[in-house]
Amino acid sequence: MVPDSTGRRIGLFGGTFDPVHNGHLAVAEAAAAALALDLLIFMPAAIPPHKDSPSSLDHRLAMLRLAVADNPLYTVSDLEARRAGPSYTVVTLTELRRQFGREKDFFFIMGADAFAEISTWKEYDRLLDYASLVVAHRPAEAAMAELEEGVRRFFPQLAREGAEVWRHPSGNRLLFLHLPPVPVSSTEVRKLAAAGDSLAGMIPAAVIRYIHDHRLYRTAPSSGAPARQNR
Ligand code: ATP
Repeated sequence: MVPDSTGRRIGLFGGTFDPVHNGHLAVAEAAAAALALDLLIFMPAAIPPHKDSPSSLDHRLAMLRLAVADNPLYTVSDLEARRAGPSYTVVTLTELRRQFGREKDFFFIMGADAFAEISTWKEYDRLLDYASLVVAHRPAEAAMAELEEGVRRFFPQLAREGAEVWRHPSGNRLLFLHLPPVPVSSTEVRKLAAAGDSLAGMIPAAVIRYIHDHRLYRTAPSSGAPARQNR
């Protein structure tokens, strides 16, 4: 997944990506620039088999590959989604650290919505042992004061280093990345596709063609977002 020849700063962006949209790509672009990444890996998570899944992992991966095809900095990995058992982030990061030792710096990128629920993730307090955490924050999301309270509560071992940067004893950091709003969600894309409405401007053109060609999202989602397991 991470070629040895890649530079040392590796971003990991987890999500469901059903489908990938321009909001995800805006996060990726902002993170790659702000962190001077050498590689950014999109890592779709598995959706539990007992839950309704609007589209298969293979479709989600194919759409991601189309969306990143023009950017040599980006790649897509099925590491999380294909692993037997749940796709826990801490397991992925442990594996990467085992493979690369201290050779690479990993930056795990998540939205502020995901960060607000991080205490439900498996062994969340170990994540910073393996990677820096980058929380992408949009103006309409939880107030920064609330998120900072979350940092203090969930990660008491962090020392404040700057306005919105904290340092872990391992040397990894937790930091916030402010993003301009890109008002699109996968739920909205699925709803529009089910209604036969235009998806122009919300997702890359190649992904629109893929959705049409494979007749994805033709039936209206029964209940908003696909269910996720704790990461
Ligand atoms: P759904 O609508 O199905 O819940 P989603 O659009 O939130 O999906 P995910 O794949 O769950 O997409 O998102 C992965 C990460 O990307 C999440 O942490 C989320 O906060 C972030 N994200 C999603 N949409 C946007 C957006 N428009 N701008 C910035 N970040 C986003």
